[in-house]
Amino acid sequence: MKTAADVIVVGAGISGNATAYYLAKKGLSVIVLEASQNIGNGGSSRNGGGVRQSGRDPRELPLMIYGVKNIWPNLSEELGVDTEYVQGGNLRLGKTEEHLKILRRLADGAVNCGVDVRMIDAGEVRQINPYLSEAVIGASWCPSDGHANPLVTTLGFYKSALALGVEFITGCPVSEIILSAGKTAGVKTPENIFYSKAVIVCAGFESNAVLGTAGISIPMRKKLLQCLVTEAEPEMFRQMLGTAKADFYGHQTKHGSFVFGGHDGYEDFANPLNENNSYPPSTSDFVSACSRGITGYFPLLANARIVRSWGGYEDLASDGICTVSKVDEIPGLYVECGFSGHGFGIGPSAAFNIAELIAEGKSPVPLDNYRYNRFKPAL
Ligand SMILES: Cc1cc2nc3c(=O)[nH]c(=O)nc-3n(C[C@H](O)[C@H](O)[C@H](O)COP(=O)(O)OP(=O)(O)OC[C@H]3O[C@@H](n4cnc5c(N)ncnc54)[C@H](O)[C@@H]3O)c2cc1C
Repeated sequence: MKTAADVIVVGAGISGNATAYYLAKKGLSVIVLEASQNIGNGGSSRNGGGVRQSGRDPRELPLMIYGVKNIWPNLSEELGVDTEYVQGGNLRLGKTEEHLKILRRLADGAVNCGVDVRMIDAGEVRQINPYLSEAVIGASWCPSDGHANPLVTTLGFYKSALALGVEFITGCPVSEIILSAGKTAGVKTPENIFYSKAVIVCAGFESNAVLGTAGISIPMRKKLLQCLVTEAEPEMFRQMLGTAKADFYGHQTKHGSFVFGGHDGYEDFANPLNENNSYPPSTSDFVSACSRGITGYFPLLANARIVRSWGGYEDLASDGICTVSKVDEIPGLYVECGFSGHGFGIGPSAAFNIAELIAEGKSPVPLDNYRYNRFKPAL
């Protein structure tokens, strides 16, 4: 087992795996330390697969647009796996004038940043997706959005990083960042010390606990999100779907199952399923609440059979956007977290750009929007 490298990556979700891959591609030696026994055990294996620009905070759009243009279209080929990326567009659906107002505001913000999104009327919505209920009166439509398979993509980065010589150590929680003369010198785990001049913290909602050992805090917390999957059905549509009301989102996968996510309103009170809370729970009301959301837009899916549901934790930042940044006062320390429930789609671009910053000192997308110290006290 190696105990020294150019860069230590903390956490093996899509952020950690992709960052390790891009750093190794640049010729740097990398060790990835993962707390759990499994690669991709956090939100990265539990998410809804959305790869979308529309509906995002405009500050996240430069990173996301970069990913949609430069990374996602060739990712299957680059990683040698079928990421199941489908650029089938994103329909964000509205049933009331109030909904359309919300969608129009989001669409205007995205257009100003160069995203190909526009509002469409009920007729055009049903031309794109004829299965939608008559209750839908309009939508925003972004043809360059899409979806992909989160697990295959995350493991694709892992396998490609392994092939480039990255060392992965699972069951190895980082307990402390080691500093020497004010600079990053490595990390401690319960059984070892690992040395490196650069450490990047990609530990999802647990990032703050790791960063705290170096005196850095990013205002964020964990929040439960949930998804369900149905039995496979004949192909109906290729778009990623969302709604102004946020009562469900989802898509049909390549093999026919529908993956949908949503809320039941009780996530903050969920009962942990096991003693140490290492598996996020799925709440008892989620499936019925999400199903009501779905069938309100897709009456035809009323008889689709649900196979299972699951939960996962997002790392919710106080302002809802990610941190992808170096830490100025501690040379060698980097952060990639706070993805706030939409880090799968943006993950590869965030990883590519931070890897460029570490390896070359600059990134193709300026990372000013995503700095760790952008948060200001309320008063
Ligand atoms: C139900 C659900 C649906 C979602 N839907 C979407 C969607 O449709 N589209 C989208 O873009 N995003 C979606 N997301 C969000 C997305 O999954 C996350 O933003 C993304 O996976 C974050 O990846 P990550 O690698 O940063 O973190 P994670 O995948 O959470 O990985 C963090 C890793 O760090 C490890 N770790 C923690 N502490 C330590 C430590 N001390 N030492 C070492 N390792 C540590 C963890 O074990 C974990 O493996 C969804 C999330 C959930 C839960």
